[in-house]
Amino acid sequence: MSNYCPVIGLEIHCQLATKTKMFCGCEIEVNTTPNKHVCPVCLGMPGAMPVPNKKAVEYAIRLGLALNCEIDLNAMWTRKNYFYPDLPKGYQITQTGGLPVYDHPICKNGWLEIVKEDGTKKRVGITPASSSTT
Ligand SMILES: [Zn+2]
Repeated sequence: MSNYCPVIGLEIHCQLATKTKMFCGCEIEVNTTPNKHVCPVCLGMPGAMPVPNKKAVEYAIRLGLALNCEIDLNAMWTRKNYFYPDLPKGYQITQTGGLPVYDHPICKNGWLEIVKEDGTKKRVGITPASSSTT
């Protein structure tokens, strides 16, 4: 077993404090009536064009800079099509499609420094979900 080194990845999600959703102008309101804030983009209607939320992108860049990441000025999103009972539109908009051609997240290749119990420091890499870790 000593020939193996465990690599453990964490997929971490956070909800940004924006007033509207990530890809449309629908208001975010917690604990409200279901389906109160929906539009053709949210529902994935044909021809509806999602547009990234400027404030959310700004927050992502700020987080990336705090985590020593490279900021990709050509960041892109793709549709990951799949069926899931609570996802009637049949796709999710993502930044990690699993293929290198789709691998353009806003932030990548950063690090967070932690202090271990013995007082030494260790850098934990910040990498996209589809990239290999070191
Ligand atoms: Zn919407």
